[in-house]
Amino acid sequence: DDRIAGISSAIRVIPDFPKPGIMFQDITTLLLDPVAFKNTIDLFVERYKDKDISVVAGVEARGFIFGPPIALAIGAKFVPMRKPNKLPGAVISEEYSLEYGTDKIEMHVGAVQEGERALVIDDLIATGGTLCAAINLLERVGVKVVECACVIELPDLKGRERLGDKPLFVLVS
Ligand code: 5GP
Repeated sequence: DDRIAGISSAIRVIPDFPKPGIMFQDITTLLLDPVAFKNTIDLFVERYKDKDISVVAGVEARGFIFGPPIALAIGAKFVPMRKPNKLPGAVISEEYSLEYGTDKIEMHVGAVQEGERALVIDDLIATGGTLCAAINLLERVGVKVVECACVIELPDLKGRERLGDKPLFVLVS
């Protein structure tokens, strides 16, 4: 698709952020380019509009940027999956391992119903730990995760393998 090149070139790479040796993929420059940003959303909408998806679950923080316009366009609800202690109501949470230590994501109880079909969206997959936790959280309450989608995949980190047989769709690798 000839829209991909424009999306790829709108993503800025910042070396040594947030620590030395990391090449940070900065999507804020993609948001500054209305054509590339719209093409990003359009590519996801074209893929998911006829897949009977009722939930778009976005992972904090950058899943909150790409998730809502996709949800609106396909007629699904948007559910935020947040860092710990941010959601005001009763939550269910899922812990996941990082290189050093653990982290957690949370979702409001009652945000989704058993039997719903979900798309999980984030800006980037690295090790896959975040997306795995989001999948587990949704599946624990009986939601079928149809697919995960990211703007960017870092293939060297093998996050796709960590997702097992769960399909992953990415625009830029
Ligand atoms: P994972 O859990 O797959 O190892 O890491 C993915 C999470 O870390 C995502 O929520 C993503 O936003 C964030 N992340 C890790 N590295 C980068 C990066 O280079 N750029 C951006 N934008 N996010 C990153």
